[in-house]
Amino acid sequence: NSTPNDLSAFWMPFTANRQFKKEPRMFVGAKDMRYTTHDGRQVLDGTAGLWCVNAGHCRPKITEAIREQAGELDYAPAFQLGHPKAFELANRLVDIAPDGLDHVLYTNSGSESVDTALKVALAYHRAKGNGSRFRLIGRERGYHGVNFGGISVGGIVSNRKMFGTLLTGVDHLPHTHLPGENSFTRGIPDKGANLADELERIVTLHDPSTIAAVIVEPVAGSTGVLIPPKGYLQKLREICTKHGILLIFDEVITGYGRLGAPFAAQYFDVTPDIIVTAKGLTNGVIPMGAVFVSSEIHDAFMTGPEHMIEFFHGYTYSGNPIASAAALATLDTYKEEGLLTRAAEIGPYWEEQLHALRDCPHVVDIRNLGLIGAIELKPIDGEPTKRAFNAFLEAYNDGLLIRTTGDIIALSPPLIISKAEIDELFDKLRKVLMRNI
Ligand code: PMP
Repeated sequence: NSTPNDLSAFWMPFTANRQFKKEPRMFVGAKDMRYTTHDGRQVLDGTAGLWCVNAGHCRPKITEAIREQAGELDYAPAFQLGHPKAFELANRLVDIAPDGLDHVLYTNSGSESVDTALKVALAYHRAKGNGSRFRLIGRERGYHGVNFGGISVGGIVSNRKMFGTLLTGVDHLPHTHLPGENSFTRGIPDKGANLADELERIVTLHDPSTIAAVIVEPVAGSTGVLIPPKGYLQKLREICTKHGILLIFDEVITGYGRLGAPFAAQYFDVTPDIIVTAKGLTNGVIPMGAVFVSSEIHDAFMTGPEHMIEFFHGYTYSGNPIASAAALATLDTYKEEGLLTRAAEIGPYWEEQLHALRDCPHVVDIRNLGLIGAIELKPIDGEPTKRAFNAFLEAYNDGLLIRTTGDIIALSPPLIISKAEIDELFDKLRKVLMRNI
């Protein structure tokens, strides 16, 4: 378990990884809420890995299901053939999804789920005989993975600029974070639902019958936890319905209990036409994604004349047996331990302890929803992102894993976190923030 001497072969593209290669930090083990580092220390997981290990690490039931499946049926082709667990899983997923989202397509990651959803949306309109709908609308600061579709609709310019022309006909709604106005808001901000009116403006700017879909994260996670104002998602739904535009929720982060309901769609009481998921589907343990679609969409492809509506899509590993077994065991664990609603129960305590950091130096905003939290730091002049990155390094050395994006610290612990562990997390973080970072 010692650190390998030569770290050069594995290309880790982000430039921050140059620093990592000079000063490697490696995990060699994990259990429940904690990682073990290569130098034998325990690190409290404040981020559920990358927002994915919702039930905590190395849960015996999930580990055992993977082991058993790998020894019984390791692989089955995904076309014209199948295996029982993929079908059982789809039924179980539809049971916890919002009413009306009755069909599931499998992928292997969040990025693949996003591209799958965009392809479904574009093809759906064609299956209905409306080939003129090609425009896609995302949101500034939206993150939808790293594949071509995802970076095209994603709202992070720096993620797009190295790749020339991507998908054309993409517009971006303004993001929902109003600096200053919703500082230190607890939960859902009251003001700002009118930001959704921008969709109506974009729609009327173009011919509405050219717009295929709108994709948003209900809560933008990777770009710093941007929580939509009350009524905002409802307005998007109304405008989309009015113009025959499909609404897609990217729930790669918010899915599987992060907000205290199975999906953000239920939490906000807004049903989109498509929900994109991955991460928590298998507790982050095995790569797998699932895209939920309405019966209306499914039936447009599967009940019409076959030669007219071929939807060419699917992956070698779609719904593979080991991932399906892992997902079924994950859903069992969520159910047995009440984890899909746990964030609603522990959320108020989480909120209280999180907002108590308000008096720490350099803290300019704190936001929370479910078991998500964000602490925005004042940038160091001329060195934006440095302060949060310093906090990440200090926290890691003190035995706490946090995530940073720009000058924002993001928190999203496994949903099994206890009150004592919440106390420990914020004690550690307070000590870090009180230093001169
Ligand atoms: N969408 C959202 C909202 C995400 O947060 C992420 C990953 N952070 C993705 C898509 C991409 O998922 P993956 O990394 O599994 O491709």
